[in-house]
Amino acid sequence: MTARIIDGKQVAADIRAELKAEVAKLKAKGIVPGLGVILVGDDPASVSYVTGKERTCAELGIYSDHHHLPEGTSQDELMRLVARMNADPRINGILVQLPLPRHMNESEVLFAIDPEKDVDGFHPVSVGKMVVGEKAFLSCTPHGVLHLLIRSGVKIEGSHVVIVGRSNIVGKPLANMLIQKNPTGNATVTVCHTRTKDLAYHTRQADILVAAAGRPNTITADMVKDGAVVIDVGVNRVEDASRKQGYRLVGDVDFEAVKEKASLITPVPGGVGPMTITMLMYNTVLSAKRTAGIAAD
Ligand code: NAP
Repeated sequence: MTARIIDGKQVAADIRAELKAEVAKLKAKGIVPGLGVILVGDDPASVSYVTGKERTCAELGIYSDHHHLPEGTSQDELMRLVARMNADPRINGILVQLPLPRHMNESEVLFAIDPEKDVDGFHPVSVGKMVVGEKAFLSCTPHGVLHLLIRSGVKIEGSHVVIVGRSNIVGKPLANMLIQKNPTGNATVTVCHTRTKDLAYHTRQADILVAAAGRPNTITADMVKDGAVVIDVGVNRVEDASRKQGYRLVGDVDFEAVKEKASLITPVPGGVGPMTITMLMYNTVLSAKRTAGIAAD
């Protein structure tokens, strides 16, 4: 079997087109969704992520309030900016680009964000609400995985999902979303990590296999059941002298071999990646609607 490729760029573009139309309708009612973006320092990957977020805000008509602070910014200064954004009615969502410089306390900053504006879904209030099945902002990468599955017609209910990785930003929230007793959950979920005995035994049980380990070739073809759906969250740089920049991006899955066994598979790049920024925009629009009292969810 050769897998159908899930085109994350296309799914993300479809969702963004829906959001753009929704933002236009909100604007006609005098509501302009706004995102506050804070970047501290000049880490090239972070600069490029933040630039992508601003570009997407502009594309969708979302107001963006961007603050690029120098590397040496103090914790107090950053906390004051977060407090100002919490109080600013033009801002519906606050994004602090991670990682922060080493002298900063990341948790203190993230926990200071008003949960009503926590569009990254990292605040413990958001996480707790998600776990108990209350309305919350779902964190963007796992929420993106969920939408990729839904929009690709994958049956989640009753499926055995095996997730490789238990981080707070991917594995744990995704597992929680998928076990919820609701129409987009109802899966049976196994979460694997570096202390899992016989990883391949578990991955071979998966109807839906999600790789979020951050290591190339963590998932090889012998670890995948025939016809499984394979979602590759990993983004890894591997040396490649044939490329101008000297590297290329690969996921955690041996794509070429696994695509001959899976029924559906996401590529890297072009799979989960484009969904993450899109779900941030989704949450920002949702936050604006919730503030205006017109959100259905
Ligand atoms: P992380 O915090 O480093 O967590 C990795 C997890 O994978 C850990 O739970 C680790 O287990 C587990 N793991 C690592 N190697 C393993 C192995 N050989 N066998 C079993 N488990 C293994 O990483 P993360 O932040 O979740 O990110 C994971 C990957 O997704 C990275 O490549 C990252 O760049 C990518 N990512 C992509 C997006 C996107 O938008 N596409 C967003 C976020 C992350 P332990 O807990 O035991 O250490």
